[in-house]
Amino acid sequence: MKRDRRSASEAEPYDVQAHHLACAVCVRGGCKSPPCGRATARALLDALWAYPHVPLRIKADLDVARAHFFDVYARRGDRPLPSDFQARHDAYGQRRKDLEVCRLLGIYPNTVIPAFHAYRTLLTRQPTLDGLCWGLTADPAVWPECPRARQGYYEKIASVPFPKLKEQTARGEALAGEGFWALFRPRTRAAMRAAKRASVARIARAERLYIRPNHALCIICTRRETEPLIEDNLVELRRRMETEPDILVTLTEGCCMVCDPCNVYHPGEHLCYAAHPKNVLRDLRMLEMLGLKPGATLPARELYRLIFARIHSLKSVCGWGDGTDYAPLWAPCGRWRGTALADAQAEGFPKRR
Ligand code: SF4
Ligand code: SF4
Ligand code: SF4
Repeated sequence: MKRDRRSASEAEPYDVQAHHLACAVCVRGGCKSPPCGRATARALLDALWAYPHVPLRIKADLDVARAHFFDVYARRGDRPLPSDFQARHDAYGQRRKDLEVCRLLGIYPNTVIPAFHAYRTLLTRQPTLDGLCWGLTADPAVWPECPRARQGYYEKIASVPFPKLKEQTARGEALAGEGFWALFRPRTRAAMRAAKRASVARIARAERLYIRPNHALCIICTRRETEPLIEDNLVELRRRMETEPDILVTLTEGCCMVCDPCNVYHPGEHLCYAAHPKNVLRDLRMLEMLGLKPGATLPARELYRLIFARIHSLKSVCGWGDGTDYAPLWAPCGRWRGTALADAQAEGFPKRR
């Protein structure tokens, strides 16, 4: 996974009609003739496959509904209607679906959002086409149903549960074609294995460790793991701090030495494309609570002394303080309810057990 023109942070958003997100799912599920045209759906699917974090501008034509009703229906002529007005006005069926998709995503039309998050939210909230492409129509002559709506193409993809990170990393390219991973290209096992080998070697010889603050807490939650994890380097970093509690740790904002082997880490962009904003917010929450800036460097022992002194619950960082769950993109981590933080403090972490 290398950096390319689509993945650059200044890349132009990819414009997509909101309900075409769903049509692309139908095409992946086997539909050969979506109403938007196969070429439109294929172009979107190619963009998703090339870069999972591609920024999508998710469009719906709201402006057509701002023309005054006297101008539209009584030919008042106060404000001229645009030349394409009638065609846009008549596309009410597509407009309804576009707005449904915006509603499901919780966005105002024409908002830009990375593809991975748009689809995680859409497939979580809309596992079937009920209410989107079928199920509401009183008169099919006025509201024609898409002929593909009841053929199960969408559901074949959207109803497959999203696998846990460990399973994703363990299966690599074998995931391709299954549910969500029929839309996005999974990282290959060979690439993740090579990244694990290289990053573990780097951690073993490092004079200083680079750890994002949130992962300093995850190291606590996983401190009873005895074997290295396939999906990250939490165990290897913990072991270095247990054996050398005075080793320096630099607190990064963003991905760190933990992330290299992970299925949702994009090495070319140095990006966690599954949880970037959420994890950065946790990093910053923690730094504020610790009274430190990004890049602060301190011995591991001192880092954990500060954590235990100033952070009294995982809920305050990983559960947003009140456990709220506004959207899949910002979902709290379920482990905040555990007692790992207090237990680790009682054990004298990072002292070797
Ligand atoms: S059923 Fe709906 S999502 Fe599927 S191709 Fe038709 S309009 Fe698009
Ligand atoms: S609650 Fe979850 S995110 Fe927070 S430290 Fe534990 S494992 Fe990490
Ligand atoms: S922050 Fe993202 S990339 Fe890093 S280990 Fe966690 S899920 Fe993987």
